[in-house]
Amino acid sequence: MHKKWIKPKNNLAIEIQDLSKTYINSQKKIHALSNINLNIKCGSFYGLLGPNGAGKSTIINILGGTTTKDTGKIKIWGLNIDTHRKQSKLAIGIVPQELNIDAFFTPKDQLELQAGLFNVPKKQRVTDYILELMELTEKANSYSRNLSGGMRRRLLVAKAMVHNPPIIILDEPTAGVDIELRKKLWDNFKKLNKEGITIILTTHYLEEAETLCDEIAIIHKGEIVANDNKKNLLKLIDKKILIIKFEVSPNKTLINALSRFGETKILKKVCQITFKPTKVSIDKILKVTKNHGLTILDLQTKDANLEDVFISLTQN
Ligand code: ADP
Ligand code: MG
Repeated sequence: MHKKWIKPKNNLAIEIQDLSKTYINSQKKIHALSNINLNIKCGSFYGLLGPNGAGKSTIINILGGTTTKDTGKIKIWGLNIDTHRKQSKLAIGIVPQELNIDAFFTPKDQLELQAGLFNVPKKQRVTDYILELMELTEKANSYSRNLSGGMRRRLLVAKAMVHNPPIIILDEPTAGVDIELRKKLWDNFKKLNKEGITIILTTHYLEEAETLCDEIAIIHKGEIVANDNKKNLLKLIDKKILIIKFEVSPNKTLINALSRFGETKILKKVCQITFKPTKVSIDKILKVTKNHGLTILDLQTKDANLEDVFISLTQN
């Protein structure tokens, strides 16, 4: 789609070095960002995950030029935002956290208006393509006030695309959206990424980052506490869960024996053991149960998820 944007030599869509930001609010200093360093590769689906107030929107707003930074160096698609302000802005499309659409214009009109704002020549406009991509073709000529919540969100994404940026930033795109609609939006975002667009998404929904993103930075109180691909992040946690269903309820001695492997919970005939896979093998646990002569009816294992990683990183 975006032929005019040749990838930077280092293949980095966004480079953030030593970024800091302090807000001053009625003489109180708020350290919103402290020494943030991030590299986001071209083509990735990148997640910026953190609780409310972590500093996610501050990063996005600095990238978009609506908030100033105190210190740090930022490049967007190889363009330094201080020395190439205008060009660097053209490389990103930001979908803001608040829903701001004009109820009295049709989606098509709004995209045309937006294209006008960005001085996109009529011939180069791809309004219909964007409407199609965001599944808004059917509603292209209806009043926007008649759009559903999901359609409004998609229209905002569409608006961020009119100037053909290689990077789209979504700031909490599904906050307050019900689960069904959220999953539909996820499909739309995945499609955009498949088209070759680099996507940066901020969210406080762990499941959202886990489902969509291949690289994730976890931000907490203005600091990056983890930054890796999803697989490595999950490896940070030495945790596995084994669930065993016995034929009869296990007795006290067996429960005591199992407790030595890790936290053990019993619900009638079902036993759940949370253990460290680097220290305990499943084989060892099963041998102990066999020694007690109990018949196993079913077995299930569960791995750590992003929530475990998040909790362990932000509670220390
Ligand atoms: P997030 O998007 O992760 O929820 P924000 O970047 O919005 O977090 O906020 C980070 C911190 O900066 C919070 O403590 C917030 O209260 C503060 N903050 C954000 N914007 C402003 C502002 N305009 N003035 C003062 N403080 C702000
Ligand atoms: Mg925010």
